Amino acid sequence: MIDIHLHIGRLYLSEKGPLTARHLLKLMDKHGIEQACLLPMENPEFTSFYVTNEEVLRACKRHPDRFIPFCNVDPRREGPLRGILEYYRDLGCKGFGEGIAALPIDDPRCVEMYAICGEFGWPVILDIMGVANIDNVGFPRYQRMLRELPDTNFLGHAMHFWAEISGDVTADQITRYPKGSVTPGGTVPMMLKTYPNLFGDISAGSGYNALTRDPEFGYRFLEEFQDKLVLGTDICRLDQDMMIVPYLKNALAAGKITRTAFTKITRTNAEAILHMT
Ligand SMILES: [Zn+2]
Repeated sequence: MIDIHLHIGRLYLSEKGPLTARHLLKLMDKHGIEQACLLPMENPEFTSFYVTNEEVLRACKRHPDRFIPFCNVDPRREGPLRGILEYYRDLGCKGFGEGIAALPIDDPRCVEMYAICGEFGWPVILDIMGVANIDNVGFPRYQRMLRELPDTNFLGHAMHFWAEISGDVTADQITRYPKGSVTPGGTVPMMLKTYPNLFGDISAGSGYNALTRDPEFGYRFLEEFQDKLVLGTDICRLDQDMMIVPYLKNALAAGKITRTAFTKITRTNAEAILHMT
């Protein structure tokens, strides 16, 4: 299996210490994850500390068979943004994210970077949580950007993205984990059908909540969008476990999802997005 969304290092003051490579590899081995993308944290808003691209690259250099480096550049950097992205491409980075700046999702500086990511063949993981990568209910800005940048693959993640799985989403839910049955007509299912360059990163409490709030809907969603969903865990604290992995394994064992869907979501979709084959 491949985890497209994992963190290393120390993100929060409240943590006792950093997430070490050793800790992460043990967790990956426990769940059968062979490789994981490490996402740096280069935006200042939502964590206590930065985890730099350099820190991620160092860990990946020590464990090249297990870790895949992503690159993160704050769009408010002096730039030139293209030069910085090329620098990290040449050092071996394979994707961008997770972008978590408190800016409109289609801030011109972000769009400029994501266009370059498309040229590089890099997927872009955005943390869309209401107060970062800001958009309205129904994602008018996100949809315009997906149309403007057809060569860039985007992975949607976090509270706002996953709240829009349901057609009855309200503005106050986009920073939360809405519970209960999923109403047909959600913007996210529509967008996954409409935009070939949009994928869903099922990591974190937000992805897990979206899949489990209405269990039978969740299984149908995994099956229907088996070509558009990618396993991620978003482990960012020492006491977290990868609860999404047992959830998927149990769904497979219970016959709720097919082996084909399981394999695509846990491995082959990521291989394609990351150009590994
Ligand atoms: Zn994350």
